[in-house]
This record gives sequence, structure tokens and C-alpha cells, in this order.
Amino acid sequence: MATAPTLTPNTPTQPAGERKIVVAQELGYCWGVRRALDIIEEAASPEARVAPIGDIIHNPQVVERLRGRGVEGSTSVDEARSRGFNRVAITAHGMGPHLAEQAKANNMELIDTTCPLVIKVQRLAQKLVRQGYYIVMYGDSYHPEVKGVLAWANTTKSCAAKHIEELPWNAPRGSKEPGAIVPPRKVALVSQTTKNIAELMEFSSELQRMVMPEGGEFRLCNTICEPTTERQNALKALTSQAHVILAIGGKKSSNTARLADVGNQMGVPSFHIERPEDIQQEWLDAAGDGNVGITAGASTPDDVIEQVVAYLVERGYSAPDGGIRPVDPEYVPNF
Ligand code: SF4
Repeated sequence: MATAPTLTPNTPTQPAGERKIVVAQELGYCWGVRRALDIIEEAASPEARVAPIGDIIHNPQVVERLRGRGVEGSTSVDEARSRGFNRVAITAHGMGPHLAEQAKANNMELIDTTCPLVIKVQRLAQKLVRQGYYIVMYGDSYHPEVKGVLAWANTTKSCAAKHIEELPWNAPRGSKEPGAIVPPRKVALVSQTTKNIAELMEFSSELQRMVMPEGGEFRLCNTICEPTTERQNALKALTSQAHVILAIGGKKSSNTARLADVGNQMGVPSFHIERPEDIQQEWLDAAGDGNVGITAGASTPDDVIEQVVAYLVERGYSAPDGGIRPVDPEYVPNF
């Protein structure tokens, strides 16, 4: 009778000595970025160039490839016009309504690749304003998505914050302390689509405690998008199967750095790499016969992920079953 293999927490069914590559169920381009790239690549050619306003993607290889197809980023409509473009594009993060107005005023064609899940937040913010809420957007105040949503909300009764200290209030409603600045009666909280749900909930609880006393009304709208939630869940699942994690993405990609941070926080040594040459043999040696987990930031193209897989296969790891991702061309996230 065959004896059951000795199990370790990270390798539930794996025979001793078999080193596998395990790939996060969700990695690399999210649905919205992939969609935006498809739209822009289809619209542009070297003869019909397009200037996205802002960074379309934080990946040097993709930026170079797009340049060859006539896609070159610009910082503003004016700059694009002075460089001879007559077409500009909005990236997947979206922008405020001013961009369309500037393009029109300059007689330029506008290609809008805003992710529909971001448009949903822009419309929601407008609706909340009509309903009389002060809007707090949980996110990075400098991020184009956050700036764009608040620009669509078009109200002075809004702010962006990631920490409670960044809010324009310092005390709960009803406070009579000298110097107390309290929130208005109706406050709604929306989130940047890529934020972490646990952190949003923590922020929400603190904000609620400031707003709800004295008849205050607080509304939490969880606008973290479904692809982001799936990615966070996929990373958690990966940490239970891998002894070391490689998070692949451009050096400047903060969401890739964040993936590596989360892997480390969950107790699996995790490293941010841009390409296979960045992998250090000592990381693999430390994992022994354990699996290598692979994840990738939202701006990492599939071919870079495949290069990392090929590098590991050459070093004796078995390739992931079914390639680097399940392919479902019909997939559309829930709105
Ligand atoms: S909203 Fe979600 S799916 Fe859309 S671009 Fe942002 S991260 Fe990607």
C-alpha cells in the first residue's frame, strides 16, 4: 500500500524533489489596462500618431513597443499639439472633464480609454454630490484616477485621503473641544479602484466614528474593482503554495513593489524583479525543493512573465499547468 507523502504547509500534494512554478490566478495586466492598450494600439499607427496624456503604462519595454506603433506619451494637450500630434488619449485611469474640453478647443481628436470601472466611480461621485454628501475619496491625492473622480464630482465639498489625519476635520461631530473641526452631517466614502480592502475598512471605521455622532449620516461605497480584489485574493492563495515569490514588474511600478511587500508580510520571502536576470540564485537555493510563486504588476506584459517562467524551467522547475493564465476572452468584470 502506498504511503501518503509527508506534507508541509506549503506543498500540500507535492512529491519530494519536484520543484514547481506556481502562478497567481490573476497577474499582470488587469482587464481595464489590457482593454485600454487594445483600443490605443488599434487606433494608432506611425502615420496616425496618438499622444496619451500621462503614463499609459509603467513598463519600459511596452513604452518602447508602443512608440514604434505611433503612441507617445505627453504631459498635456498643449505639449502634444506643440509636438505635432492631432490626436490625444485618456488613459485607463481616466481624467477630469477638462481634457475633452481642451482637446476640442485645440481641434484635436480624443480617444478615451478610461476603464468602465473607473467611469462608474466618476458617475457615482456625481450622484453622491447631487444627494448632498461630502465626498471623501480613499486614495493617493496625486493619482490621476483620484484627481479625475474628484474633478468629475466638481464640488468644493470633497477631499482625497489615505490617513485619517489628512482629513479636513480633527474631531467627531458634536465635539465641543476648543479648536475642534467636525465633519458635515452627510459624508460618503469612495475608494480608488486599486486599494486594499482591509485598509479601506480600517479607514472607514475611523471615519464613521467621526461622522455618525449627533445624527450624522455615513455611506461607504466599496469601489475597489473586481480585478483588484481577485488579484489580492490570488496573492493570498499563492503564499500558501510557494516558498519564494517573484513579483515581476518595472522598477518604477509601485503596485509590483506592493505585491512583494504583501508576500513578505504573509511570511513568504518575496522579491521585486524586472526581468529574469534580476533573479538571484541564493533566493532559489534558500527555497530548496520548494515551489517558486510568480505574480506580476498591472503593467507587466505577458511576454516578460513568460521569460521568467522559461528561465526557471531551464533551471529544473516544472512549468505551470495551463500556462501563465487562464484565457477567457469573454471575461468582463462585474459592474
Ligand atoms: S478599475 Fe480595475 S480593471 Fe479598471 S484599470 Fe483600474 S485596476 Fe484595472
